[in-house]
Amino acid sequence: MFEDIPVDVSPMHEGERIRAANMFVELAGPKSMGAELIQVADDVEDGDLQVVGPELSDMTEGEIYPLGISVKIQGEKLEKELEGVIERRIHELSNYVKGFMHLNQRDQIWCRVSKEAKEAGFKLVDFARALSILLKEDFPLIEKISVTIFTDESEVESFLETAKAAYDYRDSRARELSDEDVDVFYGCTMCQSFAPSHVCVVTPDRTALCGAINWFDCRAAAKMDPEGPIFEIEKGDVLDSTKGEYSNVNTIVAEKSQGETDRVFLHSLFEYPHTSCGCFEAVAFYIPELDGIGIVSRDFRGETPLGIPFSTMAGQCSGGKQVEGFVGLSLEYMRSPKFLQADGAYERIIWLPKEIKESVKEYIPGELYDKIPTEEEAESIKDIKKFLRVNEHPIRERLKQSKESIETEVEPDSDISQLEEDYEIEDNDAPVAYLPQMSVPGSDGVRIILKNAKVYAEKVIIKKEQK
Ligand code: SF4
Ligand SMILES: [Zn+2]
Repeated sequence: MFEDIPVDVSPMHEGERIRAANMFVELAGPKSMGAELIQVADDVEDGDLQVVGPELSDMTEGEIYPLGISVKIQGEKLEKELEGVIERRIHELSNYVKGFMHLNQRDQIWCRVSKEAKEAGFKLVDFARALSILLKEDFPLIEKISVTIFTDESEVESFLETAKAAYDYRDSRARELSDEDVDVFYGCTMCQSFAPSHVCVVTPDRTALCGAINWFDCRAAAKMDPEGPIFEIEKGDVLDSTKGEYSNVNTIVAEKSQGETDRVFLHSLFEYPHTSCGCFEAVAFYIPELDGIGIVSRDFRGETPLGIPFSTMAGQCSGGKQVEGFVGLSLEYMRSPKFLQADGAYERIIWLPKEIKESVKEYIPGELYDKIPTEEEAESIKDIKKFLRVNEHPIRERLKQSKESIETEVEPDSDISQLEEDYEIEDNDAPVAYLPQMSVPGSDGVRIILKNAKVYAEKVIIKKEQK
């Protein structure tokens, strides 16, 4: 089937990583531009494979080029609503090609071709051929398929516009519905190939964290292949409408995650947040010092105010883990009326990159917009704190209230009052202790182990032991 292709094509190459040292060229990605798009059409010339712009043989080793992957499909039973789900398969299927690496989705794609593949005579037209065969095999509803690969800069630019308009159309359709309007949500386990216990729950108000699949896409996919990786989830009883907890969502997630996760709050990053596989467009993270939430996207190159870049943070909360205080999300979810609603929504957001802030401008309440700092105004927690104070961000009220409630819970004790003052942490914003590993003996032989824990406290109180 793949005889004409000079490199091996098989699922066993899926985990292959092409490092810079072994790379012939990079295509699309953060230093260039690119997009992938699948469109259902009715005039598809089956088997038409084209490369518009330089082929690999015309490229210079070590360079970065733009890339557009345009796939047109036709089939009697193919619905337009299936475009998003079939498009999402490009990621996995492209990685079957030995020497070709594909990351992310939509206009976030980032690809590399290895030196070995180039030396073996591999060309982009071979990639187009492999993709067309694999997609047809995976989706028998596809009767005709054509693939065009763009590498010419101005062609990629105009293709990118077309692709963005198509993504916008899909996303805006989903905005018309709310979680309350439907009886079923959908689950997706496509990412279990690398995050074995991860289950995405896709609802009208919560587009999948990869940003590529919404509720309508899932509905079409589940109808096409009820035994496939996208399936219906009856909501069951509403256990908490603000947090977004549903009895049957918990049951199905427990089943599909092999018991790893048995409670999910769809609209909160506390207690039982949605798990994260690794392909999220952004991560929302708790900033305990200020009791607020920051957001960082995959595109953001600098360090977050926590002192770590996106990649490090992503490593800490991906792989299908449920990590309280972190949640992977799509940028589209930031346009949802239920966006982190249990945590205070935009009132709780205290830092985000300028680019995201501008892209969701119309969804941030007007009075808050200028009160939320970006990397231009704040690089550290101290900077954020100052910015929030100067701009009177409402979260300061929240901090004050929680401080007051803690203070009233502490019984006054004149003997320790001086020590309290002495040890009260300046600004209340520094971690009291960082514990790489500490074990705490519990009762009945149970031992609690804390790893890489940061312990924060409103106050440190030191009492003299009475003998
Ligand atoms: S991120 Fe979620 S919705 Fe997107 S492909 Fe993976 S499992 Fe499916
Ligand atoms: Zn994923």
